[in-house]
Amino acid sequence: MAEWQRTHTCGELREEHVGKTVTLNGWVLITRNYGKQTFVDLRDRYGLTQVVFEADAAALFQQANDLGREFVVAVTGTVRTRVEGAARADIATGKVEVEAASLTVLNPSPPLPFSVTEFPDEKLANEDLRLQYRYLDLRRRSLQQVLVLRHRMNKVIRDHLDARGFLELETPLLGKSTPEGARDYLVPSRVFNGEFFALPQSPQLYKQLLMIAGYDKYFQIARCLRDEDLRADRQPEFTQLDVEMSFVERDDVLGCMETLAADIFSTCLGIQLPIPFPRLTHAEVVAKYGSDKPDLRFGLEIVDITEVAGRSDATFLKDAIAAGGVVRAINATGAAAKFSNTALKPGGELPKLADAHKAKGLAWMKYEGDKFTGSIEKFFPDAVKAELKARLNVAAGDLVLIVAGPEAVASEALGALRTHLGAALKLYRNWWDEKAEYDAAEEDRAKKAKRAPVPFVPRPEHFHFLWVTDFPMFGWDDEEKRWAAIHHPFTAPMDEDVAHLAADPGKVRAKAYDLVLNGYEVGGGSIRIHRQEVQSRVFELLGMAADDAKARFGFLLDALRSGAPPHGGIALGLDRWAMLLAGTTNIRDVIAFPKNQKARDLMTGAPAAVDERQLKDLGIRLS
Ligand code: ASP
Repeated sequence: MAEWQRTHTCGELREEHVGKTVTLNGWVLITRNYGKQTFVDLRDRYGLTQVVFEADAAALFQQANDLGREFVVAVTGTVRTRVEGAARADIATGKVEVEAASLTVLNPSPPLPFSVTEFPDEKLANEDLRLQYRYLDLRRRSLQQVLVLRHRMNKVIRDHLDARGFLELETPLLGKSTPEGARDYLVPSRVFNGEFFALPQSPQLYKQLLMIAGYDKYFQIARCLRDEDLRADRQPEFTQLDVEMSFVERDDVLGCMETLAADIFSTCLGIQLPIPFPRLTHAEVVAKYGSDKPDLRFGLEIVDITEVAGRSDATFLKDAIAAGGVVRAINATGAAAKFSNTALKPGGELPKLADAHKAKGLAWMKYEGDKFTGSIEKFFPDAVKAELKARLNVAAGDLVLIVAGPEAVASEALGALRTHLGAALKLYRNWWDEKAEYDAAEEDRAKKAKRAPVPFVPRPEHFHFLWVTDFPMFGWDDEEKRWAAIHHPFTAPMDEDVAHLAADPGKVRAKAYDLVLNGYEVGGGSIRIHRQEVQSRVFELLGMAADDAKARFGFLLDALRSGAPPHGGIALGLDRWAMLLAGTTNIRDVIAFPKNQKARDLMTGAPAAVDERQLKDLGIRLS
């Protein structure tokens, strides 16, 4: 071992080490000079140790005073107990310090573009700047903790699935386009100029082919690439747990994922999740919550009041019903006082939101004292009002919001209102908001009592999982004037709906399922088509001519004819899982080297121009 190499990490020393000579390697977080002593907080990913340099040793003292932030150093010294009153309860090494005997600068660092300290109340530097210097940003304690958490999550997944007989198998990055509904990233071939590989949007077809090859339980922590518009919870390249199983039905896949989720939550957060998760059909969630990924941490269910509204004197309601539409409402309990009548007028906060979702207006009534007031109250005879009150469970202080129109519009608009109201009325709390509040108070309490702060532990009620099942198989693509697969074209139709395939594709439900957590889609999968003739029919329905289907998916059709077992699977979006486990809504916080919101890597500068020669090799001419 070289003389400068560490004997301990910066998170390791305790009282039992007092008197020992140790060597630490790490980064200088901060230095504090008090005239006769200089303190250096030395950091690595394991923790922080205080190193003391005494003025008596003049040369060494000078060396310490010349240290800058983020210099990487080796320090040898003796472990000693901190003086009375200087112990820190909030760090594991807080009872001891190292009295330095020698210091070697392994590498200096220029002044930093931003500080990597994370003192309470310290504001984070601008994200673009942090992404440009991501290797510095990743030195922050909170990001290190997130990456450790991700490692732990991946390890639980591997151990859990391995113990149940799954094989982790890799599939190609250079392949043929797999339709998952996004744009492909293409890679030009040098050998075959003018031809392209597509980077995988998912390993979907490969995992099905593995089933056909007899590897009946497969998983992969797979990188997927989709060239689509980015959002706070989306990246162009992301990681999913890809799973496929043979000889299974839907409930086998769901059950397998539930035990895995319980394992992940218990290992990573110490929470015992109640399983099985609730299951609702797509039709149910859309009717009740106006969304296929509803946040179930709060109620505010949508109620159909078409029948009652039909007996009012409001022409706009009656017209909507006569045109085949519906009337639906949300009772925002206790919200009457929160929204002034002006805020409810056209152009106000809530009507604007309804308009943005194509609703033709938002009607409302408040129940104040013992009567309804509001925009349309006068159109409801007393008896109808009483029925409405009973149907929506209205009590004093409630606000009823009503949308009339085609079912899809009413549902979507009320779904958006529901999501908005859930946040505006603070009907749920993100566990990390609760944690921030707790941490601040706990830090104070711990300091006063001179004890270590007790960490916040999230509770099961912070996480509402839900399976959404029985998705429609096809949606009408108005632009292309054809049916499109809602999940992907390899999803099996429900047995009882196969008969509708020819005459009424819109009616066919798929054996598809999504896993939803607190309003995020965190997984999705399906039982697959395993018969060639059904797959061919579905391709045809999607507007693919037989020779086109053969050219694109001939290998799959052939394989489906060659002893393909019944199979199904799922993919879990691990970046989103990591976000919800780590307590952030920013997907970039859980990825070591993410792209920014314009899909650029600010650190390396990718994407970037390439040499003329490289382009020539690929047969590409830029216009
Ligand atoms: N291939 C699907 C996806 O990536 C998941 C699945 O059907 O298993 O979303």
